[in-house]
Amino acid sequence: MKLSELKNGETAVIVRLSGHGGFRKRIMEMGFIRGEKVTSVLDSPMHDPIKYYVMGYEVLLRRNEAAMIEVLPEEDAKRELSPAPTYNCISLCESCAGCNGQCSTNYSNSTERRNVINVALVGNPNSGKTSIFNALANKNEHVGNYSGVTVDAKTGSFNYKGYRINLTDLPGTYSIAAYSPEEIYVRRHLFEQMPDIIINSVVASNLERNLYLTTELIDMNIRTVVALNMYDELLAKGAEVDYVHLGAMMGIPMIPTVARNNKGLDKLLDTVIELFEGKNNTIRHIHINYGNIIEEQIAPLSAAMHKADDLPQQFPVRYWALKLLENDKEALRDLDNCLEIERWKTLAENGAKRIQSQMGADAETAINGAKYGFINGALQETYRPGAKDSNRHTRRIDRLVANRWLGFPIFLFVMWAMFSSVFLLGAYPQEWIEKLFTHIGECVSTIVPQGAVQDLLVNGIISGIGSVAVFIPQILILYLFISLMEDSGYMARAAFIMDKLMHKMGLHGKSFIPMLMGFGCNVPAIMASRTIESRSSRIITVLITPFMSCSARLPVLILFTGAFFPQNAALVLMGLYLLGIAVAIATARLLRLAKFHKDETPFVMELPPYRWPTLRATLRHMWEKCSQYIKKIGTVILLSTVVIWFLSYYPRPNEAESGKRKVESGMVESGSQSFEQIAEEETISGINENSFIAMLGHAVEPVLAPIGQNWRSGIAIITSIPAKELVVSTLGVLYSSDSEESITEDLRTSGDFTPRSAAAFLVFILLFFPCIATVAAISNETGSKLWALFSIVYNTAVAWVFAFVVYTIGGLL
Ligand code: GDP
Ligand code: MG
Repeated sequence: MKLSELKNGETAVIVRLSGHGGFRKRIMEMGFIRGEKVTSVLDSPMHDPIKYYVMGYEVLLRRNEAAMIEVLPEEDAKRELSPAPTYNCISLCESCAGCNGQCSTNYSNSTERRNVINVALVGNPNSGKTSIFNALANKNEHVGNYSGVTVDAKTGSFNYKGYRINLTDLPGTYSIAAYSPEEIYVRRHLFEQMPDIIINSVVASNLERNLYLTTELIDMNIRTVVALNMYDELLAKGAEVDYVHLGAMMGIPMIPTVARNNKGLDKLLDTVIELFEGKNNTIRHIHINYGNIIEEQIAPLSAAMHKADDLPQQFPVRYWALKLLENDKEALRDLDNCLEIERWKTLAENGAKRIQSQMGADAETAINGAKYGFINGALQETYRPGAKDSNRHTRRIDRLVANRWLGFPIFLFVMWAMFSSVFLLGAYPQEWIEKLFTHIGECVSTIVPQGAVQDLLVNGIISGIGSVAVFIPQILILYLFISLMEDSGYMARAAFIMDKLMHKMGLHGKSFIPMLMGFGCNVPAIMASRTIESRSSRIITVLITPFMSCSARLPVLILFTGAFFPQNAALVLMGLYLLGIAVAIATARLLRLAKFHKDETPFVMELPPYRWPTLRATLRHMWEKCSQYIKKIGTVILLSTVVIWFLSYYPRPNEAESGKRKVESGMVESGSQSFEQIAEEETISGINENSFIAMLGHAVEPVLAPIGQNWRSGIAIITSIPAKELVVSTLGVLYSSDSEESITEDLRTSGDFTPRSAAAFLVFILLFFPCIATVAAISNETGSKLWALFSIVYNTAVAWVFAFVVYTIGGLL
């Protein structure tokens, strides 16, 4: 608990100090150190400050400062501060091999707190943060060779040398100013969560730009260790860096790492622990010298701020002073409650004016310049650039791949290769899985007696799940391609190639990456649009991403193209994807014209060097997606198939009645079969015309009739709302028959679809809004339910119109 929560007269023991280095130092000087007893003596009438008794002195602390000190009741602390559990014991606890769980039972809440280190990963985009995170926390987060892959903080925990380390992977930023959403996110995380230690991942072969962020961490005075990542690339270049010396100059330990091969990471963790225990010799707090003119303006401001006792203690005074000079919006927000903020603002404004007049640049630019000056000075002494031009191969590849004439055909070829592989290679394992499920179905039929239970198992669950599970190979292949494109750096080139086109749509090259990612899953794709600075471009990108056909729609598309256009399946599939893109483009243009003004944000995007994708990262990525898919099959889809089965099985047809009706209506000749037999046949082929689901299907039929759909495809469309895979599993339930034939055959022979109506169905499913999760993502990212509603209505209308056009044209042909 926090010291500020201690009641009058209570005594507790200090276990942790947070806040920036200067604050910690000051209160440590006063006796607030770990293991020390502290008693709350007197709460002042205004509840602030509070008088504490520590180390034989009475000390006043303000409530918000006391909140930075973590304490535990004496009994807990005694157990707790007794010699730490041996290293072996704790590290075994993770799997509990050897200690039979005894450790974890002793592992009380308090022990956990004391041995917990909260670590945050901060660094430029594409500097390998997520690779470090995955390697350390043994996670499968998504790495990609372009900026802006991680848009949310991800947390993982692991045990190391007696400590529990909570590691947070933050979005990549070039600085911690308050411009882009990521920067604000990282800043808020540091301010509110106050991680104990920061791992700053820095691209070793690109020190100058990467260390800029480090200088900001220096200003913030947070305990930091630099991971000189991609050290292999530095060596390949033939460059040299005296990182020990560089670290000493910057007051930050630096550890070379190659995250993707797990190199240097133990040393990195050891340093984290050293920093936490205060046993590192390199770390020291330095002040970057901003030069006389700027320093002269910092001095009076920080002197004034120093006197205030309501200054937030997360960051040091000098940092706040710098930020006020820079007129930083976030800092102004954080300081808004300070009594003297107005006076400081005036001081800062005057200071900034003086900097402007003397240096001919606004304060922010001047301060940035000074930072780079500091970095250059430090590098001059410690860094020797390599003789080899490591970017040569990247430039060579780019000459081909990003070529004016070849770029586009190459991109189309890659797309074509992707879809062909999905079809050709995916077909074999698909067949095996199909056989497996048919076999399981048969076994169950022989074991379970005929009736509702058997029907639920065989025609409901097994056939529903089976029809979705068969697409696992295809989805793996799709993600193999996406993963290779991302990791090699090709994805960023695709954005580059497409920028011109995107610009014509009134969008940004950056919007292309979410769109491409949309082929995988719309939800992360929509989240990836966060990296787009301009709000209007961001909203448009979010709204058009659902037209990118996601992997959940793939099974439907494959099933129907395979069944009705077997000769040109890959081509039709690619055509559908292109149609989705075209509709997206048209929508973007429309939105730009109708709602938003022109976007003038310049196109700034990093083109990373080409990198060999690693087998591990690729397999990880594929496995992650595959396991998500399987999880979805086991949950949403399983549940939905049961519901759909129920709706399609009940109410049972009054068998004699139904048969009689058919005979009367002339559908079946009487005499040859009994009424019961006729009704039985009807249900054997999976169709129960009396069922609830049939009613539902019939209800929507009028709307769907103009696009060539009957009540059964209507049911499929309705059930696609929670998740698109359900179309296939619904069809699996509806068309499952006891025959040996696959669902493809069943569809073809059912007579429900002609190529013409199948095409219309495909187009409808393609453009219809993807799923509830996507709508939720749209609502989140645009910050408005109205846009989500717009998306539902608009996409449904567009889907209908296009399906109608396709159906009509099909009729003319
Ligand atoms: P993030 O954006 O900072 O999270 O960076 P990622 O972890 O997504 O990595 C970006 C790219 O760099 C990926 O293609 C990684 O495979 C690659 N990468 C990461 N660490 C290393 C490394 O130490 N050496 C090399 N050569 N590549 C790396
Ligand atoms: Mg990342």
